[in-house]
Amino acid sequence: EVAAQYEWVGADEARALHRTRGKFSHKGTFGHACIVGGSYGKIGAVALAASACLRAGAGLVSAWVPKCGYLPLQAGVPEVMVETCGREHYLDAFPEPGSGYRYGVGMGMGTEKDTAKAFFEWLGRVREPVVVDADGLNSLSAHPEALANLPAGSILTPHPGELARLIGEWTDDFDKLEKARAFAADHNCVLLIKGAYTVILGEGKGFINSSGNPGMATAGSGDVLAGILTGLLAQGYPPLEAAVFGVYLHGRAGDLVVSETGPEALVASDLFGALGRAFRELY
Ligand code: AMP
Ligand code: MG
Repeated sequence: EVAAQYEWVGADEARALHRTRGKFSHKGTFGHACIVGGSYGKIGAVALAASACLRAGAGLVSAWVPKCGYLPLQAGVPEVMVETCGREHYLDAFPEPGSGYRYGVGMGMGTEKDTAKAFFEWLGRVREPVVVDADGLNSLSAHPEALANLPAGSILTPHPGELARLIGEWTDDFDKLEKARAFAADHNCVLLIKGAYTVILGEGKGFINSSGNPGMATAGSGDVLAGILTGLLAQGYPPLEAAVFGVYLHGRAGDLVVSETGPEALVASDLFGALGRAFRELY
């Protein structure tokens, strides 16, 4: 009975979601994504997310980081336009929300008081769905009242530790699913439960992803996923479709890498190279 409430996501389901490109499309057709996050020593999280966002097909990708992120990002990911707040080591201000942008926020961001304060205020002024990951989620868990500022349809991407902080501890898997479903409904968001068989919850529906493997249990893997999801939102995929499709692609890219290297040697940036093949299989 429980299983009947969830849709399995394999290659056929992903293929049905994939939007092929028109001959006369241009980069404006594929949207402008902006990755917001980073702090001293964790600029790599933004680099991974921004790179993945590009590989997922976003037309233009910007990054908004503290000043210490300017040089590494410009040098490391030349396709990305980089803007900074006034502080050197952490964010104390957020970009002016633009309706043409889709934002992915929280990777490597840290939980400084000033950062969280600026984040919540900014969240209340964004009108379009955002992807919230990592320290964006941790900030919201510490100040759940700020969840009221979350734009409708936003995608939240917790791993198990982040999920427990967000929805509270669960007694068993059924309890976890129920709490997560209730959370997604209460906050009108798309909520992931990341891990083997990532669950995607939103709009009263539930999906279970088939792709992915333990090789993906490695630093930065989640940053890549958050970047992919932001890139799909930028291209106009509705949030629930972006989440289901993006989780599948991310896992499939991991499966393609592992089929060549085995699980131990997989690193998050290997996933970019395989993302193109994951898309290609769907044509
Ligand atoms: P994070 O912990 O934020 O870096 O996210 C880890 C990412 O890797 C998520 O997308 C997980 O779904 C994925 N992942 C981690 N462990 C596994 C596993 N055992 N099987 C499949 N995917 C995994
Ligand atoms: Mg993560």
